[in-house]
Amino acid sequence: MVQTDNIHQLVCISCPMGCRLTLVKDEKSPQGYKIDGNTCKRGVEYAIKEVTDPTRMVTSTVKITGALLPRLPVRTDKPIPKAKIMECMKIINSLEVNSPVKMGKILVKDLFGTGSNIIATRSL
Ligand code: SF4
Repeated sequence: MVQTDNIHQLVCISCPMGCRLTLVKDEKSPQGYKIDGNTCKRGVEYAIKEVTDPTRMVTSTVKITGALLPRLPVRTDKPIPKAKIMECMKIINSLEVNSPVKMGKILVKDLFGTGSNIIATRSL
């Protein structure tokens, strides 16, 4: 995202079209922004969320013992605030689980009170 004064320029990642969006503060608009460049309304929702409350899914791996592979793939099951990603990675890097683990198993519940869990994305 590029930001200059009250203008934000970003690429919508809600679908592969990747529309280039421009947001300008507009107090007359009910959303508080005027948005250009979107092909559909999902772009408007994405742009406003990205400048007011940006979130991301986190994917990574954790140590696993007693399995064929040394690392178990994991991810958050809901997006978490972008500002919490580093803290989330510290938690992931400190995790060590024992085999067997079933896909979908919750390894860490309710990260930072967000309702998002860290789950296994495969059985191992
Ligand atoms: S604005 Fe709509 S069409 Fe464009 S990238 Fe976003 S979701 Fe896709």
